[in-house]
Amino acid sequence: MPLDPARTVAELRELRELTEDENGAQRVAWTDTWEQAREWLRGKVAGTRAEEDVDAAGNQWFTLRGRSDRALLIGGHIDSVPNGGWLDGSLNVVAGVEVLRRIAEEGTPELTIRLVNWADEEGARFGRSLFGSSAAAGSMADQDELRSRVDAGGTALPDAVAAHGVDLDRALEAHSQLGSAAAYLELHIEQGPVLESLDLPLGVVLGTFGVERHSIIFRGQAAHAGSTPMDQRRDALAGASRLELEIREIAKRTGGGAVCTMGGVVTKPGIVTSVVETAECLLDQRHLDAAALASMLEEAKRASERIAQEENIEVEWQRIWNIQPILFDDALIDLADEAIRETAGTSHRLPSGPLHDAAEVARAGVPTVMLFVQSLRGLSHTKLEDTKEEHLELSVQALDRLATKTLARLSK
Ligand SMILES: [Zn+2]
Repeated sequence: MPLDPARTVAELRELRELTEDENGAQRVAWTDTWEQAREWLRGKVAGTRAEEDVDAAGNQWFTLRGRSDRALLIGGHIDSVPNGGWLDGSLNVVAGVEVLRRIAEEGTPELTIRLVNWADEEGARFGRSLFGSSAAAGSMADQDELRSRVDAGGTALPDAVAAHGVDLDRALEAHSQLGSAAAYLELHIEQGPVLESLDLPLGVVLGTFGVERHSIIFRGQAAHAGSTPMDQRRDALAGASRLELEIREIAKRTGGGAVCTMGGVVTKPGIVTSVVETAECLLDQRHLDAAALASMLEEAKRASERIAQEENIEVEWQRIWNIQPILFDDALIDLADEAIRETAGTSHRLPSGPLHDAAEVARAGVPTVMLFVQSLRGLSHTKLEDTKEEHLELSVQALDRLATKTLARLSK
């Protein structure tokens, strides 16, 4: 039976029926609906000869044995955020089933093919994204902290995962799953507006952005709004406002997809009759290039110091969180480009703003690449999330072509 991309779309609809209510998808990890979705997936893979096993972190693997133990991995996540969309994560799992069927139909593959449904990519219930893939990658280093996480209903994370057969203390044993991995492919909806604005169905993802997150506090002096002349003020909000405008210029000057966002400013005392004494800003900066990211941070720091001096106020920086850019494999990026051109005529290379399971796998040293398919209006994590049916079908074809090209390359 040849590849049948229309079947993928029909199956995605079926999954939607099964796990969606009037507010959107409810496949939140470690819930009954999620378990139901995994059971549904098990049923879809049955009949391909692929054997199922669930690893120590709750990742669901389907293995089609090839002549070699070296494995081509295709992965996604069937979990969603609450009130989520029908495609985020599930597209690749369901498209992966179709590719698995096509390969199984043709006999025993040269390499072993493994479809993986990562557990709890979204981190929606406990605020910890990429649970299963970080365990498999061996980068899960926060088990002590995870032990103390509690959901909104008061259930502790270890208890929630235990109800689905996962012992948090043993989750890192999932690392052995990547031992035989020769390459990892992931198809995902873009969740942003770039491909739609270019009028292209598909793109190759170059890697995931590095992120620098800081809290910046400007300190001035509270003073009476009526009695303090304009030239004698030490206005902390002037620092925050001027820096906000400056980071936009920094991102523009840096280019290459650079983004800088001041996501919040809290002022004190925050009353209409006082000059602002402290303004605490939240800054998020992202770039695919580590050096460019470092220089954007440096530029923002220098600008804040210059502004502070000019406004006669003080400034202090504190790092909240950061992560290095994670780059995908050059050779696989080329193959993905080819697969997209053969499928849709034109390809486009773009970075990913959000993190994905693929970033964890790449970080573990497995050659990795992702394909993005256009998202309508750039919307995701909402029931409004959508992609044209013809584009979904093209994405299944492109993934299949990429799998064929990758297998050919690895079999050499
Ligand atoms: Zn996702």
